[in-house]
Amino acid sequence: MKSCKNCFSRLNEADSVCAVCKIECNKDRKTYTKEEKKISYWCRTLHIIGFLSVIGGCFGVVAGLYSFFAKTVSPILAVIDIVFAFIFVYFGLSLRKFAKWCYIAGIILYSIAVIFALLEWNILRLLFDILFFYYLASPTTKKILYREL
Ligand SMILES: [Zn+2]
Repeated sequence: MKSCKNCFSRLNEADSVCAVCKIECNKDRKTYTKEEKKISYWCRTLHIIGFLSVIGGCFGVVAGLYSFFAKTVSPILAVIDIVFAFIFVYFGLSLRKFAKWCYIAGIILYSIAVIFALLEWNILRLLFDILFFYYLASPTTKKILYREL
């Protein structure tokens, strides 16, 4: 099974145009239009954000389990942390498949993440969360996830 070189989605054998990014799969990268270059870059960025959301979610689950068993925070708070982290893992996996619901979910999840990073005053995480939010909430992301290209 071949996959698209821009968004890594599976390509339908009979179709030469990718169903997600709408770029002709045999087209030489050098002959891409400005718009195609932008979409290609955006798809790859969303793929990376999806991957990092999965990694971040996994760390969150481990940290949540640790604080639950070590009793560093109240059990309810630890459980909320774990559930939230699991949602991030699921979100990341779905974003890598360019699922439509990831547009709204991305905005909500990363708004919450930004607030948490602010409350904990974790500057590094705050910068990443704001950057990811910027990409996820952009009109280009909406067009890709809603297949409106
Ligand atoms: Zn594609």
